[in-house]
Amino acid sequence: MSRTILVIEDQEQNLYLMKYMLESSGYRVLLARDGNEGLATARVERPDLILLDIQLPTMSGHDVARALKADDALSPIPVVAVTSYAMPGDREAVMSAGCTGYIEKPIDPTTFIDEMETYLNEASSKPGASPEGGESESG
Ligand code: MN
Repeated sequence: MSRTILVIEDQEQNLYLMKYMLESSGYRVLLARDGNEGLATARVERPDLILLDIQLPTMSGHDVARALKADDALSPIPVVAVTSYAMPGDREAVMSAGCTGYIEKPIDPTTFIDEMETYLNEASSKPGASPEGGESESG
């Protein structure tokens, strides 16, 4: 079963770079170019993870993250901000909007998939995320 990643990004170059890398790693990829399109796609497709640009037209990434988290059906989906600014306060702003974490722009093709998968695996190992539940812990 291939997992589905929704990418919300208005810059074509970044959009296709992420799409290419994700598809090369076996993921199904959905694309949206603004927040409204992203929210509509998320409602229909229920992706396993959302990669969210913060600087978007019409609706900021922060607002998109808040809207996702305010929707009971969508709030469990991990949202990872993809952002070109990485000042200490920016991380807090994306986290307080409900994002799980962030990946810095410019996107580094050598680490992008690993970073994304860290967030994806964190989310799927949370208690209640799967019907099987508990992972084994030693010590
Ligand atoms: Mn942008």
